[in-house]
Amino acid sequence: MLSRQDAIEAVTEEEFDVVVIGGGVTGAGVAMDAASRGYTVALLERRDWAAGTSSRSSKMVHGGLRYLQNFDLGLVREALLERQLMVQLAPHLVYPTPFLVPTLGEEKRDRRIGIGLNMYDVMASVRASGMTRRERAARAESADYWAPDRHRTIDGAEAIDLVPALAPRDPSHAYLFYDCQTDDVRLVLTILGEAERLGAVTLNGVEVTDLLEENGRIAGITGIEAESGEAIAVRAANVVNATGVWADRIRPDEIHDEEEIPRIEPSRGTHLTVSHDDLEIGRAACIVPAGGGRAIFALPWYGRTLLGTTDRDYEGDLSHVEPSGDDIDYLLGATNDFFGTSIGRDRITGAYAGVRPLIATGDEHKSVDISRKAELYETSSGMLTITGGKLTTWRRMAKQVVDRMVEREGREAPCRTADLPLGMPAEEKDFADLGGLDVKAPDETRANLGFRYGHFASKVLRLATEDETLARPIVDGQPDLLAEALVAARFEQARSVADVLLRRTRLGILAAPQLRTAESVMPVARILGKELGWGKQRVRAEANAWLDEARAEGIDPAARH
Ligand SMILES: Cc1cc2nc3c(=O)[nH]c(=O)nc-3n(C[C@H](O)[C@H](O)[C@H](O)COP(=O)(O)OP(=O)(O)OC[C@H]3O[C@@H](n4cnc5c(N)ncnc54)[C@H](O)[C@@H]3O)c2cc1C
Repeated sequence: MLSRQDAIEAVTEEEFDVVVIGGGVTGAGVAMDAASRGYTVALLERRDWAAGTSSRSSKMVHGGLRYLQNFDLGLVREALLERQLMVQLAPHLVYPTPFLVPTLGEEKRDRRIGIGLNMYDVMASVRASGMTRRERAARAESADYWAPDRHRTIDGAEAIDLVPALAPRDPSHAYLFYDCQTDDVRLVLTILGEAERLGAVTLNGVEVTDLLEENGRIAGITGIEAESGEAIAVRAANVVNATGVWADRIRPDEIHDEEEIPRIEPSRGTHLTVSHDDLEIGRAACIVPAGGGRAIFALPWYGRTLLGTTDRDYEGDLSHVEPSGDDIDYLLGATNDFFGTSIGRDRITGAYAGVRPLIATGDEHKSVDISRKAELYETSSGMLTITGGKLTTWRRMAKQVVDRMVEREGREAPCRTADLPLGMPAEEKDFADLGGLDVKAPDETRANLGFRYGHFASKVLRLATEDETLARPIVDGQPDLLAEALVAARFEQARSVADVLLRRTRLGILAAPQLRTAESVMPVARILGKELGWGKQRVRAEANAWLDEARAEGIDPAARH
């Protein structure tokens, strides 16, 4: 990624075909798609990459089994096809996980779930993709092809083998099906990397405050650059608003009709992480009944068990969305009831909450009833807004926007993103030998780096091998290396300790209790300081700023009073 300084110069000196507002998965996708069709693109993000909803998802690339209940068949099918494509385009970053729906003891198996899973299987099949038989055969033969096995019923012993935490509950059977998981922030950073490779300029730390309009047409944006506090203007023929839950706050001075922009009704979802010592989730995810017909997930993620999520209307501050006490109790309650555990708040290793950009439909329905469908809006001045949708469907959302731009210009430029790999996958053996350097990183670290960075992991390992201090873990017992803080600042526009702990690595939500003091994050602050030219005082201030950020984000419920 360009350094921020180079990106600032590029966005202010050049004029672009497209400026995209918002550096979550949707904005990153639009930038990549538009750049791949020959547009010049600038992408501006107010805070940090994926700092909005795109770092706060359940980390699933999935069809969304529960949307079948609402008969959102189109949405589920579209998401299932995207899921399959993502495994193919980013095999290092999007991986299949077995999911279990267990039946405990004497309970009767719920046959409706079997029916739902049958539909899920059918919709996931490439037959449903609209491809010709020949195209399907060609795709199935390619080396990176992945198709999920059909769901099946397994016996209790196999269920326990996959999810050891089920052992005390005596499962008689379980439905087993497949969905996929990822690291949502890494997905965004990988898409941004591809966008930049295709010529887009990407810059975080710029808040768009106004739209430039000329003769009733949109002509660019003005914004404030966070480090200098200076105003900047970026001129562009097309402006795309991809600000998720903030989408209704970017408004041209005049709009003819309120229908030209969305009305967002945010809904908060909370997640917790706990140690495998407290809930041994093993290799599979588990669907956990949570009362009132709802269910939550227990997922294996980065060596922890991830529990989530909730779905409640939210009216609070959008810049820091804290997990609510009620939601934390609800998640722990459902988990403890189901697994027969007694995990208390003091055992939580991390927590986070995010808000879904749900589009108000005008009726009084609660958010749970509002579809996750994406919507495209166009103002009379030409600004395009895309919001709603899911992490999984980012590519379709981007396509929808860029198709519209191409169509209104009467150009011939079909979407290519279904064929563009996302990053370069690498296996551990690819960085076993770095040109004669003796790489000492343990297997878990190498696997972690390969998942996160693909081939670029060799660069991270090289830095760690050349400088011993960088080879140390950021948090004892976790595989993330201090070298990653340097990589974050040098190559990924990270500017704060929180950027490193919440979004470049995910330690803030995986090991929050070990990051409670300024001292514990000083090594990260020092590395950032050296790279970004901070003096001693600033380094200390930045380590303290982490504590404020951690408190505002509510990542450590055990530390709350
Ligand atoms: C609890 C929860 C769980 C979820 N789980 C899943 C899941 O498992 N799978 C799935 O597919 N989907 C999931 N989703 C949905 C998915 O996370 C979102 O649909 C997606 O991340 C939205 O991305 P976005 O880019 O549209 O918005 P965001 O990620 O919020 O990005 C918008 C960006 O715009 C920036 N911005 C705002 N205003 C300005 C401005 N004025 N100037 C510059 N930048 C600005 C923000 O800082 C932000 O980074 C989940 C959502 C939630 C809340």
